[in-house]
Amino acid sequence: MSAATYLVILAGALGLLIGSFLNVCIVRWPALQSVVSPRSRCPQCGNLIAWYDNVPVASWLALRARCRHCALPIPWRYPLVELATAAIWVAAAWRYGYELEALRGAVFGTILLGIAVTDAREYIIPDEFSVGGVALGILFAFVASWSGRPPAPHVLPWPQALLGAAVGFVLLWLVAYFGTKALGQDAMGGGDIKMMAMVGAFVGWKGVLLTVFVGALFGSLVYVPLLVLGKRKRHVPFGVFLAMGAAVAFVFGPTIYDWYRRFLGAA
Ligand SMILES: [Zn+2]
Repeated sequence: MSAATYLVILAGALGLLIGSFLNVCIVRWPALQSVVSPRSRCPQCGNLIAWYDNVPVASWLALRARCRHCALPIPWRYPLVELATAAIWVAAAWRYGYELEALRGAVFGTILLGIAVTDAREYIIPDEFSVGGVALGILFAFVASWSGRPPAPHVLPWPQALLGAAVGFVLLWLVAYFGTKALGQDAMGGGDIKMMAMVGAFVGWKGVLLTVFVGALFGSLVYVPLLVLGKRKRHVPFGVFLAMGAAVAFVFGPTIYDWYRRFLGAA
């Protein structure tokens, strides 16, 4: 087996396990519960979930999506989050190989997935994802700067990570402040502001602008038709769309900035 194949398989297995843990975070962090203890129990019958009933994806299939003891349905969200996390880790390993950037991309994607799911379910973006993510993004930038290797073009230098976090925070704070004034109701939550500081720490200030642009575009594509049909929702989980925008900024950002620069140069 080649070293690259080995890395991709390892990333897939690790992604499944991390996705399993992400499921715990998604349920417990919005409820302000510990993700370490107590061990998981069935919410209906209270039986402890055995390790063999907790194997990512496989147990859900083997149990046919029901609790072994009381047959309470286990949401399809569990295997889906596990598979999506594995896909993110595999894609990062495939794209970047044995580079720090592979781990950085995988971690960023995992945080974005966690944010998207909690925001969609409960309109909450836990600080563990956002504030914790700011710390991780800046840490990655420091390690990349100090590892002594010539940085690849997509690696963010640490001053850019700090600047990106600041721009993300201030820009979204301004949007929230003026949006609230204009609409007379909360336009955006504090969770979105802290989330964009996290995004900035991973993709820099240009990435913040691209994320907000793409996020607003995706959000409009979904919500404008709903508005037209008169199905107005009171809450909009904007974090879901910002997470999509941030993923686009991470993967395609460097290509898009390059294209934009040439476009400006040609004009
Ligand atoms: Zn049960």
